[in-house]
Amino acid sequence: MSGFQSPRGLRDIREPDASAFAWAEEHAWSAALAAGYARIQLPVAEDSALFERAIGGTSDVVTKELYRLAVRSEESTPLALRPEVTAGVVRAYLQHGMRSEPQPVRLVTVAELFRHDRPQKGRYRQFTQFDIEAIGDAGSGIDIEVIELGTAYLRSVGLRDIEVHLNSVGCPTCRPGYLVVLAKHFAAVADRLSPVDQARLEENPLRLLDSKDEVAVAHAKGAPRFVEHLCADCAEHDRAVREGLSIAGVTVVDAPHLVRGLDYYTKTAWEYLLPGEQGQQGALGGGGRYDGLVELLGGPATPGVGFAIGIDRVVLALQERGLTPAPQRPPAVVVCGIEPGSVGMRIAIASELRASGVSARADVSTRKIGKQLESAVRDTAIAVIIVEPDGSLSLRDLAAGSQAEPGARAMVVSAAAQLARTQGGQ
Ligand code: AMP
Repeated sequence: MSGFQSPRGLRDIREPDASAFAWAEEHAWSAALAAGYARIQLPVAEDSALFERAIGGTSDVVTKELYRLAVRSEESTPLALRPEVTAGVVRAYLQHGMRSEPQPVRLVTVAELFRHDRPQKGRYRQFTQFDIEAIGDAGSGIDIEVIELGTAYLRSVGLRDIEVHLNSVGCPTCRPGYLVVLAKHFAAVADRLSPVDQARLEENPLRLLDSKDEVAVAHAKGAPRFVEHLCADCAEHDRAVREGLSIAGVTVVDAPHLVRGLDYYTKTAWEYLLPGEQGQQGALGGGGRYDGLVELLGGPATPGVGFAIGIDRVVLALQERGLTPAPQRPPAVVVCGIEPGSVGMRIAIASELRASGVSARADVSTRKIGKQLESAVRDTAIAVIIVEPDGSLSLRDLAAGSQAEPGARAMVVSAAAQLARTQGGQ
């Protein structure tokens, strides 16, 4: 055995988990495609400056968690592995002139992300997000559409009791006023706050609502609510989103102190949580409106809204509830042969079966036929085709334990396919 191990926080995903991941991802793509979102695939690395600008140079994600790649030559731009999707989507929106397309531009991707975080259950250094972005529409209707889409996805994989924890984080008009009252509230305990939280009190008091430190958590309970300090525009937007979600059948929990981890959010902010789960650690996903981001990245003022749902956490939640799908079943038909020289023909027959939609594999060994049959049984195959020395084929029904007289290829192949189909083993 080699001494190599996968790096800390980076995992191999094997069966049965691999099937659960694939299933959760396929559901994500199809939920979004059915709602008119177009696929986009982005590079795993971007200019580091894109993330610094979008997420904020002083955020934890940039200062502590960004995987920066070594610069290869003086000319090349410093690159970083993507820690989130939205910045890359907005970069692509601007680069490809998507502003000239009908707005909003609706995009979906399923992407691997990298954050140099402390690994623990549900928190890995490489993880996968189902990401939805709708860029170019400032109305509350698109917020409702996006929030409902994430809810419907989580329900469709089996998490039927999913809740949307909703807040508004205002806009540049009303946020400064709220920050003043929030800072005043926390100033009362300033000398008891941790050094990190004292710095937050100075630089960005909103982050105090996110703190894990005991003093800040306790004092956050009585903190003023942003919804009571919204400007008229943000208040009306918030009212319309809540009303629309209620009509759309989405369960909303009021979350007056919910702030998202990144600074570019405006107005609507939400998280998807299962009942009893708390805050960001337990969230399956989250989203928000980011009306200032396109401009921040050098484009014209353009609104946007989106969510990211963590596939790793969805799979964990399904496993905890015993809801994971059955792993991929082994091939329904195994094609064996008496003579070693028949391997090519066995492979051709297995391929023909697969082309007709039936899962099949050839036994490519030169073992005795008895051993080949044993391994087909162990693999829970439904039927075995045996290539006889004269080139004719025999069909064995493993469930019934019966074997038919050898026959011509076309007839036996189609009988094997029929057997596999009737026993549900395609
Ligand atoms: P964020 O981009 O931080 O708002 O996270 C959105 C969702 O991505 C979270 O609710 C999690 O489901 C997932 N997520 C974020 N960070 C991690 C991580 N380190 N490991 C696994 N999933 C994560």
